[in-house]
Parts: sequence; structure tokens; C-alpha cells
Amino acid sequence: MTLRIGVPTETARRERRVALVPDGVRVLTRGGLEVVVQAGAGARAFFPDAAYRDAGATLVDGSDAVWRESDVVVKVQRPAVDEANLLREGATLVALLAGAPGQAADADPVIVALAARGVAALALERVPRITRAQSMDVLSSQATVAGYKAVLVAASEAAKLLPMLTTAAGSLAPSRAFIVGAGVAGLQAIATARRLGAVVSAFDVRAAAREQVQSLGATFVAAEAIAADAEAKGGYARAQTQEEQQRTAELIAGHVKDMDIVITTAQVPGRAAPRIITADMVRTMRPGSVIVDLAAETGGNCELTRAGETIEEGGVKVIGPLHLASTVPLHASQMFSKNVVTVLQHLIKDGALTVDPADEITGAMLVTAVPAPVAPA
Ligand code: NAD
Repeated sequence: MTLRIGVPTETARRERRVALVPDGVRVLTRGGLEVVVQAGAGARAFFPDAAYRDAGATLVDGSDAVWRESDVVVKVQRPAVDEANLLREGATLVALLAGAPGQAADADPVIVALAARGVAALALERVPRITRAQSMDVLSSQATVAGYKAVLVAASEAAKLLPMLTTAAGSLAPSRAFIVGAGVAGLQAIATARRLGAVVSAFDVRAAAREQVQSLGATFVAAEAIAADAEAKGGYARAQTQEEQQRTAELIAGHVKDMDIVITTAQVPGRAAPRIITADMVRTMRPGSVIVDLAAETGGNCELTRAGETIEEGGVKVIGPLHLASTVPLHASQMFSKNVVTVLQHLIKDGALTVDPADEITGAMLVTAVPAPVAPA
């Protein structure tokens, strides 16, 4: 029997992405799989139904059939409990599945509903940070988009132009942009701010980030605050000690007051975002400056950030955007889809799906228990 992959329309209000774009569908249908797409699923990312049909998908009205009749459902955002309850017993779900920070899987109603139906739920945010899995990593692909867009948001809200200009109406000094957290989003923000002509500086607690920051033509700030062991397993940062935090805060305070744009991207997996920019620091900045806090969803790197809102303090705008990647829906979906196709290719060989908890990648992503496959005798 042919495996059926289902793509429902995202239902979250601000979500414009789709988990599979027509090019991804084509790869799967050429590989002998059946793909069922809810009509309109790609519309908000500018992928029309006709393009899915051309790629070999079957279009269906409404999400019910997609949920009920697919062997594997692929999705961007975690499903609602009602959606999870529509899945067939023993189906597989591939999506972002993280609940509230710190919430245990057995206290999460969505995961509980999926487990009760024997669904193999594979969380895309848990793809391990190993070279082999890089092309499956939606956190990286979507952070790339968010880091880029954060600079554009800042540029459009700032009171100044970014590049240095020498004109008949006088010379303008370039804007100064400071990027906090030089992971995937931060590095993309550095590159984008540089392309727009700003003078860019950055800070990260991981010593390894220094060289990457410098290779993009930005200055590394507060290097003396970094501990050699600040990089934890998997390339992520560990939380700073109180002493480290204090030293960092002093150095950053001295720097932030001269910045026109601050983009913060600092995260520590599974924890609330570290507080790095205090309200007092914001008050030292010039009116007309802008802070874009990419960590707004997990509590914010700036003390004044309110998720989904823009506040103003002494003429400084503090923007806490949500779902920034979704505001660039076409390319964000294209990259997300490439990641999803690679995950499916990892799970499906010769038309047969294997969810093996002992596999390094599958096991890391699996958030519900499924029995290990029995090896042939
Ligand atoms: P992330 O989103 O978890 O965090 C963003 C950045 O914030 C990180 O660079 C982190 O070090 C930094 N940070 C944490 N606390 C901070 C603080 N108090 N002050 C300043 N900065 C702070 O991280 P990410 O962007 O996903 O990537 C982290 C690292 O993992 C990078 O080196 C990246 O290249 C690597 N990575 C590897 C793979 C892979 O091998 N498959 C995939 C993705 C990322």
C-alpha cells in the first residue's frame, strides 16, 4: 500500500507558512508516495493549489480527511488537541511540538492526546545538532529568516538611515547596530545589517562565536566576559552564572548607550530567554533608536519587551515580534519544506516508514513512545 503524506492548512492566526511546498511534494510523489494537501494550505505563502496539483498532490477540501486518512501528517505549528484526536491510530506526525517552556510532555494535553492514539510524534525542534541532520533543522532555517527580517524591521522603524552617505545635503554617519547572540539568527542579522551599511558589533557567551562574528566584518564586544566553557552539548549556550551575568551587564551597558539599533537573539534551550538589556540600559539610549527582541516569544532579552507589541521608552522603540519567519512566508516555507522532506527521506526507505527510537535522529525527535522495530530474523 502506498504511504500517504498529509498537509493540513495551518490554523494559528499569524501563521502563513506551509509545511510542504510544491517542489517538496514533487520530490515525494516522484519517490512513489501519495501526498494529500488541504485546498488553500499554501495560499498564504503564495503557493497556489494548481502548483500542488502539478507536483502530483491530491487536493481535498477541509482538513478532516487530511488528518483522518494520512499515514504521516506534516505541519508547521503544533496541532490543537482536536486535530491530534483526528489522527489515525498509529499514524506519524512531524511538526514543531514544543509546549510552554519547562512543561513536561506528560503534562502537555497535545502530547498526551497523541500518545493515547499511539501516534509517533516527531518534534522538529528536537532535530539533533549533528552534521548529518543539518538539512533537517527547521530551527536553523527559520532563524535565518528571522535574523534577516529583524534588521529590516529595525531599519524601517529607526530614525536614521543605516549607511554612511556623502551627499550635497551633507554627510551622514552610518548607524551603529549591536547584535546580541551570534547563533544562526544573530549571524544572519549581522550580515544583513552590514549589507545595509551599518557599523556592526555583536556579543555572544560562546567563545566560538567570536571568530564567526569577526569573519562577517563585525566587532566582537565584551570578549573578556566570556568563559571558555560557556558552550554546552550540541553547540547551544549554557546559562551564565550570576557573576558572569554581572560582568557582562557592565560591559554591555557601556556599549548599548551609543547604539542606534539593537537586535537581541539570545536563547538557552528549555529555559526562559536570558535578560541582557535592562530598562536602565534602554534609558541611556538616544531617542529614535530601536531594539528588536527576537527572544520575545520566550520572555525577551530586554526587560521592557512585551511579546507581540512595540513599546516606547524615552523615545526608544522596543519591538517584540512574534512569528517573524512567518512574515516572509514564501522563502520560510521553502526552507521549512526542504527540512521536512529530508526528515521524511530519513524515515521512509523504499516506500516503507520506520520510526526507530534507537536511531540517533529519529530517537531524539520522538516525543511519544513507540516500540522499536523488530529486526528481521
Ligand atoms: P540559540 O537560538 O539557542 O541561541 C542564540 C544564540 O544566543 C546562541 O549563539 C547562544 O550562544 C547565544 N546566547 C545564549 N545566552 C546568551 C547570553 N546570555 N548572552 C549572549 N548570547 C547568548 O542558538 P542557535 O542560533 O540555534 O545556534 C547555536 C550554535 O549551534 C551555533 O554555533 C550554530 O552554528 C550551532 N548549530 C549547529 C547545527 C548543526 O550542527 N546541525 C545546527 C544549528 C546550529
